[in-house]
Order: sequence, then structure tokens, then C-alpha cells
Amino acid sequence: MVDIFAALENRGLPIDAAARARLGRYIELLLAWNERMNLTAITEPEAIWVKHIYDSLTVFLSPHDPSPRSVIDVGTGAGFPGLPMKIVRPELSLVLLDAREKRLRFLEAVVADLGLQDVRLVHGRAEVLGRDPAYRDRFDLAVARAVAPLSVLAELFLPFVRPGGLAVAWKGERGREELAGAGRAITALGAEVAAVEPLALPGAYGSRVLLWFRKVHPTPERYPRRPGEPERRPLR
Ligand code: SAM
Repeated sequence: MVDIFAALENRGLPIDAAARARLGRYIELLLAWNERMNLTAITEPEAIWVKHIYDSLTVFLSPHDPSPRSVIDVGTGAGFPGLPMKIVRPELSLVLLDAREKRLRFLEAVVADLGLQDVRLVHGRAEVLGRDPAYRDRFDLAVARAVAPLSVLAELFLPFVRPGGLAVAWKGERGREELAGAGRAITALGAEVAAVEPLALPGAYGSRVLLWFRKVHPTPERYPRRPGEPERRPLR
């Protein structure tokens, strides 16, 4: 069994006993609820630890880790990557956003069970919340994993980032290709590429790339477009 805590510690991220226990409990709840609703296709314990927990925490292994205070996880699903980030850094002020209400019921149960403070669960479309002044141009960091191709995702998550703040997209093998096709979207949303960071998961779990963006201007008035439009007509 891959020891993700040893792997994290080797890379400079020790996880304390309280956080380890909470991560374990989160996985227990995930598997229990997964019997009743579709939360994750990954159910083998080692794979969950590596592909969900370790993968989510890679953001803190990065030399680009901005030590954010406010974070929004756009299209969080069963809570990845936002919840492991919050468990390890309890000082984060976290918003978990998803369009599917059922998944938020699960997240509500996890947040209550783990006694996490300062986590807001928001049900809605990123295209709508991104126009709401309470969320637009506000966050130190926006994160997203497995939500949409980058040219679509740019319009979904960059609007939440304050000027000077960062966004990071978790991508698989095709990350660089997606980046090459998303230049116009990134610029149109008032951002620039800050870093492209390849990383390997421990064990035989393959590789990823973290794509980092810096917001250089407030979001232009016309973005995000109405729900579904970023997907129907990606900016390219
Ligand atoms: N980020 C999680 C992960 O990596 O396990 C979940 C990934 S899941 C494949 C994609 C999630 O994004 C779904 O829960 C879906 O409801 C959400 N999503 C997709 N488009 C969205 C949008 N426009 N606004 C809000 N949520 C969205």
C-alpha cells in the first residue's frame, strides 16, 4: 500500500494526526454514501488515497503554493480538491460550488461530521455565481479538477479570482495540449499563464499537470456568458 503521508512528508508537507484522522473519516463517509449515490468511480482504498487525497494536496507541494486565505472549488463534486485542502489547512476560508444539489447534501454531512468551520456550500452554476458581486473577482485562489476542457473551464473559474490572485487546473496527460488551445480564453478572461507544473503521483498512478494562472485584470463585463454558453461556444 502506498503511504501517501510518507510521500507528502518527503516532499515537505507533513500532515498532523488530527488531519490524518479527518481524511480517513472523509473516505469512510465517501464510501458509505457512494453505495447510495454516484460520488466516485474509484473505490479501492489505495486508489482513493492517491487519486483523490494525494492528488488534491499536490497544490501545496508546489513552489507556486500561494498560501491563500480564500479558496473556491468550482465543480467540486464529492469535494475534490477543496475538502482535502481545507482539512490540511483549517485556516482556509472555503467555498465548494457545484451544480448538482445531491452532491452538496453529501458535502454538508461531511462538513458537519468533521466539524469543519468556514466552509460554504453553494449550489449553482459557475456561469451564474461568476456574475454575482459576492463571488466575482473575490478569491485568492480558484481550483478545479475534472470539470471541463480548459477553454471552457477558463470561463467557469477565472471570474472568481481577484486581480493578483491565482487559479489552478488539475489536468491529465493532455493538459499541455489543452493549454495550447486555450490561450485566447485565458487572455479574454483577464488572466495569464503563471506556471505549468508536471507531477507524478506515487505508486503506479500516472502523472498530472497543474496549470497555474494569474488574474491580471478584473473580469471583463461580458463574462461569464449565460449557462451552457461556455461549453457550446468555447472561447478560442
Ligand atoms: N472536482 C471533482 C473531482 O475532481 O472529483 C468532481 C469532478 S465531476 C467529473 C465534475 C463536477 O463539476 C460535477 O459535479 C458537475 O456537477 C460540476 N460542474 C460542471 N459544470 C459546472 C458548472 N457550470 N457549474 C457548477 N458545477 C459544474
